[in-house]
Amino acid sequence: MTETTKTGNKNWRPATTLVHGGTMRSPFGETSETIYLTQGFTYSGAEAAEARFNGEDPGYVYSRYANPTVTMFEDRIKALEGAEAARATASGMAAVNLALMAAVRAGDHVIAAKALFGSCRYICETLLPRFGVESTLVDGTDIEQWKAAVRPNTKALFLESPTNPTLEVIDIEAVAQIAKEAGARLIVDNVFATPLYQSPFQLGADVVVYSATKHIDGQGRCLGGVILSDEEWINDEVMPFIKHTGPHMSPFSAWVLLKGLETLPLRVARQTETAGRIADYLASQSKVARLIYPGRDDHPQADVAKRQMSGGSTMLAMEIEGGKEAAFRFTNALEIVKISNNLGDAKSLITHPATTTHQSIGEEARAELGITDGILRLSIGLEDPQDLLEDIEKALQAI
Ligand SMILES: *Cc1c(COP(=O)(O)O)cnc(C)c1O
Repeated sequence: MTETTKTGNKNWRPATTLVHGGTMRSPFGETSETIYLTQGFTYSGAEAAEARFNGEDPGYVYSRYANPTVTMFEDRIKALEGAEAARATASGMAAVNLALMAAVRAGDHVIAAKALFGSCRYICETLLPRFGVESTLVDGTDIEQWKAAVRPNTKALFLESPTNPTLEVIDIEAVAQIAKEAGARLIVDNVFATPLYQSPFQLGADVVVYSATKHIDGQGRCLGGVILSDEEWINDEVMPFIKHTGPHMSPFSAWVLLKGLETLPLRVARQTETAGRIADYLASQSKVARLIYPGRDDHPQADVAKRQMSGGSTMLAMEIEGGKEAAFRFTNALEIVKISNNLGDAKSLITHPATTTHQSIGEEARAELGITDGILRLSIGLEDPQDLLEDIEKALQAI
């Protein structure tokens, strides 16, 4: 009983791919994917082991290298994204770190947009320079700054769009053009847009990374990440790194995340619809000085958002009148919306970036990024939209 059947079809639309893509059925014909909770694999004889190790037989060797449940997750998201290859990692940060490490050598240079998830910023600003890789942080929305930062040794450009937490939208196509001319690789962290609303490869990106912890799980259970790119780079640069340093995804997490992919379009569509409704409500409130939502015409980069995103966002940011004190009062008055630094969850979550996720970057860096003491980031969940609106309305009154 060693035969498995593999499912997949290039002509499927996204929702079908997300339910069936990459499934490997064992001879038992199970409906739901199997969790291959095993460290290693056995061989029918010494010759079979030899063939497995010298690559003549492409089967599995050890779960640090690859595992069938993890392969199913990789194949499913690879099919959705239209990428040649994908490798799953233990967390989103493992994927970001791996993508950057695989793209550079000591003596190289990296350019990144300033508005980054805190740990992504740490890798670019602090970690890479320790290993002899220089980095320049630019205002990602200013294309001239990207151009001006290019050096002969620039090997990677890195950005997120929309950004965390202020939801700036960066013109991916324009940055991809600069990367191409520089002979550098453009790495896009596509977490906030989700694979459903933005396809960085179609805009010219070379590498796409996700924290699967967010919308892909979507129910607050497992950490995970994935890195997608062309087959040659994944095989030559990413695979050896995973094999020898061990940031692989566990089979159990891969199984949870596979199940997450099945319902991803339903969840993201519903969360985006609700987020749009709440954004419109908040924009009309006098206690809200500024409302930032990529799906609205008053977003500072609304034209870029319309061009490169097919949907708004499940996230919104707002500046409350009255600074930290008012922001805390609003946050504490919420009943349904929970206080948490996570996002993309079934549960609506609120964060005060200045005192949590962006506390450690310091006041100056926060000011540069527009993260004032009144800024709050909201991740919209799957609750009834009317209940959420009433919760938010009540909390605004409590300010
Ligand atoms: C959460 C997040 C990460 C890190 O992912 P983890 O799974 O928490 O390691 C990276 N980039 C962005 C944009 C994120 O939101």
